[in-house]
Amino acid sequence: MKILVTGGAGFIGSAVIRHIINNTNDSVVNVDKLTYAGNLESLFEVAKSEKYIFEKIDICDRKELDRVLDTYQPDIVMHLAAESHVDRSIDEPLHFIHTNIVGTYNLLEASRSYWLSLDKEKKRRFKFHHISTDEVYGDLKGPTDLFTEETSYAPSSPYSASKASSDHLVRAWYRTYGLPTLVTNCSNNYGPYHFPEKLIPLVILNALEGRDLPIYGKGEQVRDWLYVEDHARALYQVAKEGLVGETYNIGGHNEKTNIEVVRLICSLLEELVPQNIFSKASGNPQGFEGLITHVMDRPGHDIRYAIDASKVERELGWKPKESFESGLRKTVEWYLLNNDWCKRVQDDSYQRERLGV
Ligand code: NAD
Repeated sequence: MKILVTGGAGFIGSAVIRHIINNTNDSVVNVDKLTYAGNLESLFEVAKSEKYIFEKIDICDRKELDRVLDTYQPDIVMHLAAESHVDRSIDEPLHFIHTNIVGTYNLLEASRSYWLSLDKEKKRRFKFHHISTDEVYGDLKGPTDLFTEETSYAPSSPYSASKASSDHLVRAWYRTYGLPTLVTNCSNNYGPYHFPEKLIPLVILNALEGRDLPIYGKGEQVRDWLYVEDHARALYQVAKEGLVGETYNIGGHNEKTNIEVVRLICSLLEELVPQNIFSKASGNPQGFEGLITHVMDRPGHDIRYAIDASKVERELGWKPKESFESGLRKTVEWYLLNNDWCKRVQDDSYQRERLGV
C-alpha cells in the first residue's frame, strides 16, 4: 500500500514514517511544509529508502494537494500536520486556525475529489485517518474519570479548540459525503526526536546544561504519557485495520503529574550522568532537582487528562509495549546519545541550512 502522511517531519509523523519504512512493505509520501517543528534530520535513517518520498507542501495549498494525490495515488491518508504547541497557540492563534482548521478542510476536500475519481476497488479500500489529541475533551472532573470515545468535547486552549474543529470537520465529511474517515485521539507523547520546547526534552536538555527546569505552577497537572513508538504502531494499525467512521482513543495508562515527571528525569540523569550533577556554576547541593523553578501557570491550563484506551485494545489488540519508566529511560538515553540532533535544533542550524542562510 501507499500511505500519504502529512506532518511526517514532525515528532509523531517521523515516528510513524520510521515505523512504516522499517517494519512493513508499504511506501510513504511525506507531505510537510517544514515549519520550525518539521525536521528532516529526524528521518535520516529512512530518507534513502526507495519506499520513501518527500514533498514540501503546505496543506493550505489545495492545488499542490491535488497534484500529490493525483501523482502518487495513495491508498491511505494519515493526517498529522498541525500546529501543536499550546503555548504558541496562546501567543499566536491564527497559525492554528489556518493549519489545523483550514488545512484540514483543504485536505478533506482534496481527498474527497481524489476518492471520487478512483476505480471501484481502490475507492472501497481508501481511508482518511485524522490524528487528534485528548485535549479536545478538556479537563477531567473526578480523580478517576477517563476520556472515552463518547466524552463530550470541551476544549480549553486555542490549540485544542482548533483540533476539536478539525475533528468535527472530519466527522462531517464522513456523515455528509461518505468519505471513509477514522479519527484517533491520543494522550501526551514522549520519546526520541521530540522538539525541545516540550516538557520532557526541555527538562533533559536544560538539566544537562545546568539551567533552570521551569514548571508551570506547582506542577500538579496530570497527563497520561505514551511512548511515541507505541503511538506510531497504534496509528498504523488503526489506519490498516480500524473500522471506517469510528473513533479510537489511544493512551498509555501512565498518569503522572508534571512534577513527578521532572523528578523522574532528574533521578535518571543522576544515575546516567552523575558527573553533570554539580555543573551549575554555584554548585548544587540538591542535584538536578535543585534546578527546578516554579513559573506562573499557563492561562486556562487543564488539570488532568487520562485516556480509556480499552476500545483500541479490545477491538484491534493494540497495547503499549513501554511502561513510563522503561520509555522514559530510553528517551533520556536517546537524548544523551544524540547530542548532534539536539544541538542543531537548539542553535537553529537544522532550519538555517535548508533555507540557505
Ligand atoms: P509537531 O509539531 O512535532 O509536527 C507537526 C508537523 O506538521 C511538522 O513537521 C510541521 O512542519 C508540519 N506542518 C505544520 N503546519 C503545516 C502545514 N500547514 N502544511 C504541512 N505541514 C505542516 O507535532 P506532533 O507532536 O508530531 O503532532 C502530530 C499530530 O499529532 C498533531 O496533529 C497533533 O495535534 C497530534 N497529537 C500530538 C500529541 C503530542 O503529544 N505531541 C498527542 C496527541 C495528538
